[in-house]
Amino acid sequence: MARAHNFNAGPAGLPLPALERAQRELIDFEGTGMSIMEHSHRGKAYEAVHNEAIALTRELLGVPDDYYVLFLQGGASLQFAQVPMNFLPAGKSADYVITGGWSEKAYQEAQRLGTVRVAATTEVNKAYTRIPRQDELKLDPDAAYVHMTSNNTLFGTQWHWLPDTGKVPLISDMSSDIMWRKVDVAKHALIYAGAQKNIGPSGVVLVLARKEYVDNARKDIPTILRYATHAANNSLYNTPPTFGIYLLRNVLAYTKEIGGLDEVERRNRKKGDLLYTAIDENADFFRAPVAKDSRSYMNIVFRLPTEELEKKFVSEATKAGMIGLAGHRSTGGIRASLYNAVPYESVSKLVDFMKSFAKQG
Ligand code: PMP
Repeated sequence: MARAHNFNAGPAGLPLPALERAQRELIDFEGTGMSIMEHSHRGKAYEAVHNEAIALTRELLGVPDDYYVLFLQGGASLQFAQVPMNFLPAGKSADYVITGGWSEKAYQEAQRLGTVRVAATTEVNKAYTRIPRQDELKLDPDAAYVHMTSNNTLFGTQWHWLPDTGKVPLISDMSSDIMWRKVDVAKHALIYAGAQKNIGPSGVVLVLARKEYVDNARKDIPTILRYATHAANNSLYNTPPTFGIYLLRNVLAYTKEIGGLDEVERRNRKKGDLLYTAIDENADFFRAPVAKDSRSYMNIVFRLPTEELEKKFVSEATKAGMIGLAGHRSTGGIRASLYNAVPYESVSKLVDFMKSFAKQG
């Protein structure tokens, strides 16, 4: 069987050893005569998997003890609403830094629930090609929180530094770059990430949140939407997506095995540098619209001289076994997502293909 060279933006490729482990354990999990999916979420077998997934998250990311690690549902999109519901009380306002389509959505959702401000936007003609500078952030010192998106999946920009928000809690949507490398969790009040790009299948959302922040959040919202509810119940308030969390456990166990996030970062930088170099070295044919200091290592976006050539590029690449290269429907162009599980060999194959395509084009 040949595995595809998978450049999908999410759901995305998962590490083969994590999938093979699931395959081995699928119908008989650890000699119990049933799959992990068929176990009670309150039984010993599942509980061990659940707690291992939490422990691995803590270990890999260096999550401080005064932070909760939660597994929730509803996608990152539910977080767009859940964050303001918990942390934006009447009489307060929240700051949003808009750097792409997803942060725009987060802002719009919060707008439905309370008072919000745009602290900065880098939008020009509906496109976002850079991350703002600190001196461009018009931060409200009394804001309930500042919301940012650490990596912009559609436009291929990424923050390579953390904004200084003073005493105002920082909340970050890390859906498309969680665990691409270590991050200073303690500088955030809350981090959320849909699992389906770097750490597992869709259906699981990882939340890291400062305990004190969660414990003092609003209580006048539905029980299931309170982070405090999930924290008090170790993410077992209701039935969690057990198979998704199990697979996430497999991915994190494998991530630890290969050397943790330092090794993950080294590999990701090597892959990203290879692809950006190929674009820059063929600048008469390929064009990277993103400002150099804002380039994403997860979603690498580039254009060809014409949309026709872009279509041909995607279709020929697909025939050659490289899938998921079409840009987002709202942006067009080419987008190669190089998440953690994309092997160097896939990027190297793409680069060879790009070089020969540029010659013939
Ligand atoms: N935020 C970011 C940065 C994303 O990339 C995505 C999905 N691609 C979302 C939020 C929405 O995630 P979901 O589909 O899990 O709700």
